[in-house]
Amino acid sequence: MTEPIRRFDDPVLRAVAAPVRDFDRELRRLVKSLTLTMRAGAGRAGLAAPQLGVPLRVLVYAYDGASGHLVNPRLELSPRRITADEACLSAPGVWWPLERSYMVTARGRDMFGKSVTVRALGVLARVLQHEADHLDGVLFSDHLEASERERFLAAALPSE
Ligand SMILES: [Zn+2]
Repeated sequence: MTEPIRRFDDPVLRAVAAPVRDFDRELRRLVKSLTLTMRAGAGRAGLAAPQLGVPLRVLVYAYDGASGHLVNPRLELSPRRITADEACLSAPGVWWPLERSYMVTARGRDMFGKSVTVRALGVLARVLQHEADHLDGVLFSDHLEASERERFLAAALPSE
């Protein structure tokens, strides 16, 4: 049940994803697909539904023993920010330094509609920010300055 991950230039990655309203079997299937696809590759720490072509506000994460999913997440970011290398499964193999908040409190629902809160710092906080961005059609290159972004896109989307 793993599925192909959409590439950086796919328009579905630019759409603002819709909130989930039905906490039904379809949603649970989606969470399962996201989780299996994330776990199918080494070093994969997160995945958002638009990356499988599904425009819904759902993400999964797994890092250092912490793993789970969030539906309709809202993030509260710490003012303290740090820079670290970051990558996107939609642009495999390209790592780029990016400043993000060090701590995140994410509130949302699980696939049964129950409220959940996830507090994270460091890499996991970065993963949650990255995946939540995907739900708003934001790619991590959008956070780079123009000249950096050009270099990033040249690396992420090699001409064929
Ligand atoms: Zn990504």
